Amino acid sequence: MKIADINLTTRKVKILEDEKYNAFLGGVSLATELFVNNCKPDIDPLGKENIIVFAKGPLTAAFPTASKAVALFKSPVSNELGESYAGGRMASAMRFSGYDALLIRGKASHPVYIAIHDDTIAIKNAELLWNLRSVFVVGRVLRDAEPQGPGRRSFIRSGRAGDRLIRYANLNVDNYRHFGRLGLGAVFGSKNLKALVIEGTKDFKFADMKAYKTAYREVYNYLTHSDVMDKYHILGTSAGILPINAMGALPTRNYSIGTFEAAEQISGEYYAENLLLRKIACSQCPVGCIHIAYLRIPYRKEEYDVETTFVPYDYELIYALGTNLGVSDAKDVLRLIELADRNGVDIISLGGILGWATDAFANGLITINDTLGVKFEFGDVSNYLTAISLIIRRENEFYRTLGEGLDACVEKYGGAEYAIRIGGQTPAGYMTGPASILGHIIGQRHSHLCNGGYSYDQKTFGKKIGYKEMVDALVTEEKWRQILNSLVICLFARKVFTIDRTLKSLSSIGIAFTKEELLTLANETYEKKNAWKKAAGQIISQKNLAKKIYSFKTPHGFIKKNFLQKAIEYYSELSGIPYEVG
Ligand code: SF4
Repeated sequence: MKIADINLTTRKVKILEDEKYNAFLGGVSLATELFVNNCKPDIDPLGKENIIVFAKGPLTAAFPTASKAVALFKSPVSNELGESYAGGRMASAMRFSGYDALLIRGKASHPVYIAIHDDTIAIKNAELLWNLRSVFVVGRVLRDAEPQGPGRRSFIRSGRAGDRLIRYANLNVDNYRHFGRLGLGAVFGSKNLKALVIEGTKDFKFADMKAYKTAYREVYNYLTHSDVMDKYHILGTSAGILPINAMGALPTRNYSIGTFEAAEQISGEYYAENLLLRKIACSQCPVGCIHIAYLRIPYRKEEYDVETTFVPYDYELIYALGTNLGVSDAKDVLRLIELADRNGVDIISLGGILGWATDAFANGLITINDTLGVKFEFGDVSNYLTAISLIIRRENEFYRTLGEGLDACVEKYGGAEYAIRIGGQTPAGYMTGPASILGHIIGQRHSHLCNGGYSYDQKTFGKKIGYKEMVDALVTEEKWRQILNSLVICLFARKVFTIDRTLKSLSSIGIAFTKEELLTLANETYEKKNAWKKAAGQIISQKNLAKKIYSFKTPHGFIKKNFLQKAIEYYSELSGIPYEVG
């Protein structure tokens, strides 16, 4: 394994090449090993002691959908371990430049970006990129500034939200992919780091090309000739809007109910028929699930003066800035997404913040003086657009607090009953039942993708599941995902990478692992992360769950506090992470 250790304070780069890391396969297992040995648990996430580890997987650029890169850092949103994934071209650019992982530490004295071209790693001045109004402009400048060789290039950068330390700032990767959750953009900002450019020209070969081609074909055929990926290609994840709405699990108006009366007008079907421009794919992916809409925005008073922009959309974004805010016009949802995306904000978190502000405003916890005249009201797009701009500008104390996240909002203004948060962040918008909520609580990064609780709920409709059975199923799934996330495959393709197909794929490129070794690695990675989280003071709890969660009628009925508490205590026994009574 080859790891570049980049120190922004000293501007020195060390290259570690050590076979001992081969035992960690790559991806999250490798990143965890590097992270826990280099980042103290009690540090300030926005201090210079925080580190960022990026890693690719062993199948990157060799197998279809092995297209993601992982980042580990201490999160300024949850104050726990931050774990985030992004597609685009980053992982393959790492492969072609020869790096399995990048470790970034320290803090630069002024805004910089890191430029990697094969073996050359430079830290360059980024003062002119700081606070630019759009991450897309930052990308265009970097594309022009950095040499365009024959290699694969990737551009990872923060927006103004990251520069201004808005805690839920994200990173944009190659325009339409993101390290979306848990505030990696703010960690970049805290290090005076604006961007990372990676270009690689190196080639790679495998000893047994025949075995590789056979294994490759099996994965490729399954992806393209079965129906397992159809929904992702045809409508993308926004295919879920109508069915999730039909089952009453689509959070609407800040989790007041589970159905949105205008769901059809902002469904995947509506976008595909009326606003879809094209579909694109991450590197080495034959699926192409990234749906891009066009949006015409008038920019002067004359009738035909419009600017056309391209806006990615998916289930989570439509829920967060659509149903959750009561916005029923598809173009209005795109306008909100476009503004947030251009500024580099995690849209799910932003939806939770605006939802809280709307309820808090209606209930008199914040006033028109606090909001500088913005009347927060469900469905009112122009006020939400203004509010997003004011958050990005950190205009006054109120908007600065909105930029600090839901925990800070509740601490300053109250309204815990409206703050939909788990681990400080808003969940992904699947109110399918208890496993969805429990999955977010016990998941190592409080994401629906940790253990797929929402999917477990859907498989168990009509069945009575005990809390132990539910916890065991979620933990088993999350442990297996340590391997999928070490390969760093796209989790949409998780059914393709069964344990047998994973072993065959690895073996075809000369990586010998047994089933037992894989499962041991999964377990060790999971435990190692939990040990670090425990040392960082994590407590498993439902204490901050908003009352609205318990009064939301899911397809499994109401979430029962007692059931969750028993599950939390059982999980605490298994994991060794302390719990508190909610
Ligand atoms: S399915 Fe979509 S997100 Fe996954 S690798 Fe392919 S294009 Fe990227």
